[in-house]
Amino acid sequence: MNLQQPEVQEYRRHLSRWVDERLVPQAARLDELNDFNVELFREIGALGYLGTMYPEEVGGSGAPFPYTTFSVLCEELARGSMGFAAGVCMQGSTATHTLHAWGGDEVKQRWLRPALAGEKVGAFAITEPDAGSDAASLRTRARRGDGGWVLTGRKIFTTNGTVADFITVVATVDPSRAAKGLELFVVDTASRGFGIGRKLDKVSVRCSDTAELTFDEVFVPDSHCLGDGAGGGFLRAYQSLTVDRIFTAALALGNAQAAYDGAVRYAKERRQFGQPIGQFQAVQFRLVDMFARLERAKLLTYHAAALADRGEPITTEAALAKIVAAEDCHGVCELALSVFGGYGLMNEFPAQRYLRDSYFPMIGGGTGDIMRLVVARQLGL
Ligand SMILES: Cc1cc2nc3c(=O)[nH]c(=O)nc-3n(C[C@H](O)[C@H](O)[C@H](O)COP(=O)(O)OP(=O)(O)OC[C@H]3O[C@@H](n4cnc5c(N)ncnc54)[C@H](O)[C@@H]3O)c2cc1C
Repeated sequence: MNLQQPEVQEYRRHLSRWVDERLVPQAARLDELNDFNVELFREIGALGYLGTMYPEEVGGSGAPFPYTTFSVLCEELARGSMGFAAGVCMQGSTATHTLHAWGGDEVKQRWLRPALAGEKVGAFAITEPDAGSDAASLRTRARRGDGGWVLTGRKIFTTNGTVADFITVVATVDPSRAAKGLELFVVDTASRGFGIGRKLDKVSVRCSDTAELTFDEVFVPDSHCLGDGAGGGFLRAYQSLTVDRIFTAALALGNAQAAYDGAVRYAKERRQFGQPIGQFQAVQFRLVDMFARLERAKLLTYHAAALADRGEPITTEAALAKIVAAEDCHGVCELALSVFGGYGLMNEFPAQRYLRDSYFPMIGGGTGDIMRLVVARQLGL
């Protein structure tokens, strides 16, 4: 694991100060407003955090352990607000990973560089109303046009959807070829025919922006197709989504860490039967179980990140990290709420928000069932 490397620890120290000063005090209000805070997002961009995973020549910060360091970013931000962290994670991960890996010079100059500086917001849209886990059955269609492609279709659950300047859209160039007919297209949201169907209200990660989008004959120039147009896009999308699983695991970790820290504090302060409730063995055991789950989730998450840093295969490890971190951290948040008794259900305490937010990593980027299918395939089953 690269978590103990001095550069990574220094990065966390700086970032955690920003999280404590800027994000933690606003987290409850952001959750209430149900809006992604673009001002805070720009602040994170101006501080250089969005480019953590990328080399300096494209506007990144060239961190020595890029996947570990970006995981720390996701974890620390989620310790303050998982909703806000989810939007930032989307920007620094899938939305820009696809551009960096497969975009030409024009795409990199026009979208990647400003995205890494926090000047433009990005999104990634594969999910459709009738194509979620079975993403290869998606129906958004890309047809050849003069000098480019014309996209028509609908996407749902797109993070950053209503605030995005550009969106990497997965569409089919040949529906008869299913997964083999998919391509990735970078859509400028100022294009004619692009529309925001609706902004979605939700119980979890409320201050991430989630939208339904419509594409009605949207023109995309050839330079904005992230491939040769022959339909190899599914593999490209899959590679980006595989990397992203590590970061979703890190989001779960940060949120659960906040829940655990709050529960420990409360167990020391709250007195019943003449003593702090943390002196009761039942409460101690719950806190120890939470700690154990956090440690397990951390080990798997940062093990996968270290493999990615070394350029080794991560299909199994990233899926395992996501399964364990998402589910263990959900369990941590349930236990944390129980430590607060009745106060755990009150909106003035954040325990309920941590629990609500803990559902997102079990679904976003692929459900636990789909992660298990991925691992089963890797095991040759
Ligand atoms: C807050 C939020 C943000 C999101 N952000 C984005 C985004 O930015 N971009 C994007 O493209 N998508 C995004 N998503 C979509 C997300 O990736 C999907 O919700 C997820 O992949 C599941 O798809 P679905 O919701 O259609 O569920 P379904 O696929 O309909 O699944 C329903 C249930 O059936 C189970 N199931 C389905 N197929 C199988 C199977 N083969 N074996 C076993 N069980 C199965 C699932 O595990 C689940 O329990 C987001 C979702 C949420 C909630």
